[in-house]
Amino acid sequence: MKVLIIGGGVIGITAAYYLAKSGVSVTLLERCSAAGMETSAGNAGFVSPSDSFAWASPSALTMAVKSLIFPDMGIKFRPGLDPHILHWGLKFLNQCRPSKWRQNSDIKFRLAEYSLALMRELENETNIQFDTLEKGIIYACRDQNALDDLEHHFEFLSERGLELQTLNRRELLDSNPALKSKPDTYAGAVYSPTCKTGDSRKFSQALVQWCETTGNCQFEWNTHVQKINMSNGNISSVLTSKGEFKADMYVLCAGAYSGILSQQVGIKLPIYPIKGRSISAPIVNPDMAPKTGFDDVQNMVAVSTLGNRIRIASSAVFNGFNLNHTPEDFKSILNLAHEVFPEAADYSKAEYWSGLRPMTPSSTPIIGPSGIKNLFLNTGHGHLGWILACASGKITADNIMGNKSEFEYGFATGR
Ligand SMILES: Cc1cc2nc3c(=O)[nH]c(=O)nc-3n(C[C@H](O)[C@H](O)[C@H](O)COP(=O)(O)OP(=O)(O)OC[C@H]3O[C@@H](n4cnc5c(N)ncnc54)[C@H](O)[C@@H]3O)c2cc1C
Repeated sequence: MKVLIIGGGVIGITAAYYLAKSGVSVTLLERCSAAGMETSAGNAGFVSPSDSFAWASPSALTMAVKSLIFPDMGIKFRPGLDPHILHWGLKFLNQCRPSKWRQNSDIKFRLAEYSLALMRELENETNIQFDTLEKGIIYACRDQNALDDLEHHFEFLSERGLELQTLNRRELLDSNPALKSKPDTYAGAVYSPTCKTGDSRKFSQALVQWCETTGNCQFEWNTHVQKINMSNGNISSVLTSKGEFKADMYVLCAGAYSGILSQQVGIKLPIYPIKGRSISAPIVNPDMAPKTGFDDVQNMVAVSTLGNRIRIASSAVFNGFNLNHTPEDFKSILNLAHEVFPEAADYSKAEYWSGLRPMTPSSTPIIGPSGIKNLFLNTGHGHLGWILACASGKITADNIMGNKSEFEYGFATGR
């Protein structure tokens, strides 16, 4: 069987890996010059079932209103009159009910745990390197009230088996020596020891090299998919900037752009591009760099040490496919860098980056049949595509090969 994958982010590349292992012939089409160059390039790097909470929650509306009042907040909700966001927003509101929030967070957590286990197997098999740090993730709070709230919030995941520890201020300072320069900044933290951090672009590019050794994968870079052709209710070919490609089966993994492509064949996908930003700066003093993944909960800023770089990510901007940014947009990220990890890196050499989270209203990805017999969907991973990549790729390959999946994923639409 010949399978054609559209999109070479971490989701498409990981699907290619599992399909190639199953023995099918895979061709992957990607418009960039290499793997993982768009949203998978600059994310926070957290491989963390502890972040499985759905964004559509009973408190989401309050946060949206606050974002209109406080312009410096990480969330910027500027809906305007774009019919896409209004339509998506109504669906999102429907998912904010407590029962939906619990259901969506539960499925994401189980998917994330499955994915983490698969990632360990993948690392053992391929031995690829992607700047992993297996030291867990710390969620730090600036005052006791916030810490109490966070502990209560995390009960949802500890009840489901996630190992979590509360750190008092002293234990928090011991975990990350850089924090000792301003010891009163945080009251304490919740620590998730089984989570880790790593670079999803490095992962994607190293996995491409491994896949090429199987002889089952062909990667077509700089190949822009322009049109999906149909014949007799099935996909007959895709037209690209490099000509026409045909296969028996097609898999859509085009991240935030999946809905634009699927519309050509009459499928509406509820995916909205939510912009996020990060900086990556060269580490100049490793002793003062984060020793774990680190999340400033109240400021919604995530920090990782990725090899010889520090990555600091934040913000959720509702502004369509606009990827523009100005230095001013990175003020809150840089403020946190200078406040909490001031000596770790040379921030004057930071690279500034923006990317689009492919977000569904429920925050659950769309993995499953499309309604068109030879088109499979693997997209809409929102804020968690890095951690969910292995599970999504394995479920995709199992479905296409007709194997019983170890994980019954029933949320194929993302709603
Ligand atoms: C600031 C920020 C922080 C984040 N932090 C985390 C985190 O800590 N942990 C986590 O798990 N997730 C995180 N995420 C989310 C994660 O990065 C995404 O969910 C994930 O990268 C999505 O992967 P993807 O392959 O679906 O999309 P992408 O990486 O965008 O890949 C899609 C690919 O499709 C290609 N494409 C699109 N259209 C076409 C076309 N017409 N023809 C050819 N190719 C096409 C694109 O070029 C692109 O390479 C974060 C995201 C952001 C923005």
